[in-house]
Amino acid sequence: MDPVIIGPLIAGGALALIIAFKVLLSGRKKDPGPQKKVRLLIHSINDDRCTGCDACVTVCPTDVLELQKNKSRVARFGDCIQCEQCANVCPTTALVMHHEGTEPPPLLVPDLDDYYQSNATPGLYLLGEAAGKPLVKNAVNLGRAAIEHALRSGLRPGALSGMNSPQLTCYDVIIVGSGPAGLSAALSCVQRKLSYVVVEKDAFVASTIARYPKGKKVMAEPYDVRCVGLLPVWDSTKEQAIGEWNRILSEVELNLKMKEVVEDIKRDQASFVIKTDKGTYRAQRVLVAIGTRGKPRRLNVPGEDLDFVQPLLDDPDKYTGRTILVVGGGDSAVEAAIALSAPELRNKVLLSYRGKAFNRVKAKNRQDLDLAEQQKRVLVLFGSNVAEFNRQGATLKLADGRMRPVPLQNAFVLIGGDPPVKWLESIGVRYVQKPHSYQRGATDQLVERLLGRQPENNRPGQAVSTELSSFFQAPAMPSLVGDRPVMAQRRERKEATIMVPKEAFLLHLPEKLKLDAEAQKVSDLRR
Ligand SMILES: Cc1cc2nc3c(=O)[nH]c(=O)nc-3n(C[C@H](O)[C@H](O)[C@H](O)COP(=O)(O)OP(=O)(O)OC[C@H]3O[C@@H](n4cnc5c(N)ncnc54)[C@H](O)[C@@H]3O)c2cc1C
Ligand code: SF4
Ligand code: SF4
Repeated sequence: MDPVIIGPLIAGGALALIIAFKVLLSGRKKDPGPQKKVRLLIHSINDDRCTGCDACVTVCPTDVLELQKNKSRVARFGDCIQCEQCANVCPTTALVMHHEGTEPPPLLVPDLDDYYQSNATPGLYLLGEAAGKPLVKNAVNLGRAAIEHALRSGLRPGALSGMNSPQLTCYDVIIVGSGPAGLSAALSCVQRKLSYVVVEKDAFVASTIARYPKGKKVMAEPYDVRCVGLLPVWDSTKEQAIGEWNRILSEVELNLKMKEVVEDIKRDQASFVIKTDKGTYRAQRVLVAIGTRGKPRRLNVPGEDLDFVQPLLDDPDKYTGRTILVVGGGDSAVEAAIALSAPELRNKVLLSYRGKAFNRVKAKNRQDLDLAEQQKRVLVLFGSNVAEFNRQGATLKLADGRMRPVPLQNAFVLIGGDPPVKWLESIGVRYVQKPHSYQRGATDQLVERLLGRQPENNRPGQAVSTELSSFFQAPAMPSLVGDRPVMAQRRERKEATIMVPKEAFLLHLPEKLKLDAEAQKVSDLRR
């Protein structure tokens, strides 16, 4: 064959072979075989439980979340590094993370009836944030609903007064916690002339709100729910809200026991025995309104109850020119040390941590602490432990075993808290699982189911004592309490408790409340 023809033929054949080979190879590349699909964690947010506290937004290292209309929202999911810190800090489990294509994990909620009374322990009510119904306005409405419901389901004012003794004080109602739920319930007790006491573990009322950052807005959410409790709620700053509430409390001389921790509550026949770190009480009904911050952990060393030792830091600006000990190794301890050591406050701050390094602390806090250390505003003592507090300050056991007395003006033990679920279970609250989207109904409707339409209480500045007839006007309800002096009422109530047949109190109830379940609970309680 003519070589001029053979040449192109060979070249063409070789090219065809190369192309066929490449096609084969590329075909192989196109089939990567079975691959493991990476499943992302996504966020689910239950708006009923989101308080807009900002914790998830602040903790996120890559700025994925933001507050929109006071609810947490995922604004830049592409930047999410899947660290789950946002879900871990959420105090109300409003925000959870779960794999895409799967259901969010269920909520663990207290098993309560329509009026927030424990199904497992009738007579014990769980209110506000602890009940899984956060927000200030909801808490206030629930405080009132609980008292009104108790009065309609067997509470007999003064029934325990004959059991009073020097060792045991008896009340109609004991309220645990002086947040908006507890304060509102207490005002309802004042209105209904019930004997009651509010036991608060902190040194001031509404301590969760009092400890919001300075100037923080208290949004009167949810805006489609009316405030119908006796404590006003309106869009304000935390300072305005606390100021107004304190004014009302001092006008009605609320019966408060401050710096007293409720440690145990036990049902005992038809009433409850309540043990605190200072004494024992008995009450017909217990309202537990303790929020979700739980019990601050203690060091369990001598002198920890001295006044200058505190489990929380409210306003760092209150402390100037002092020597202050902060104990702890997490973000709250480090943030407290940084805030207290601001140059303008002129404090000397010792930060004592039993560990060897701050492993759990945010990078930004670590940087700020390093700077404060370099400028000698903070002295960090790793490997140290508090051996005791005393009137002069504290004795620290240093890493090398030496005991070192330190004169102090203030000490803050910020070593975290135990969530209240376990404690609530121990006092008779049962927990059940619900889908993460679970919501309870509107709280204003709960009050109005018991009392009929109520005026909205969203105006601060009402003169409580002079306007008792309007602000504290008790709507008509079946009760043995009239306008007679309290002691006389008590005597009459006592007689009445002997005279009145068991189910008499139910006879006065509106028809819709005479439910079998209610009657059963009442007779259970009286047994
Ligand atoms: C930073 C932040 C911002 C928020 N912003 C808003 C907002 O803008 N609007 C809004 O409506 N809500 C907001 N919330 C939520 C709101 O503060 C809570 O939902 C509300 O305070 C719940 O009220 P409460 O009465 O149930 O409990 P809390 O207010 O938490 O009060 C509980 C009280 O019980 C006391 N206590 C606890 N345990 C014991 C015990 N064993 N013995 C005695 N006393 C005890 C505590 O010291 C505390 O004073 C915010 C929350 C946070 C953390
Ligand atoms: S998982 Fe981590 S990165 Fe993602 S939103 Fe939550 S905190 Fe931010
Ligand atoms: S931490 Fe929870 S309650 Fe607070 S803003 Fe975020 S989702 Fe809402």
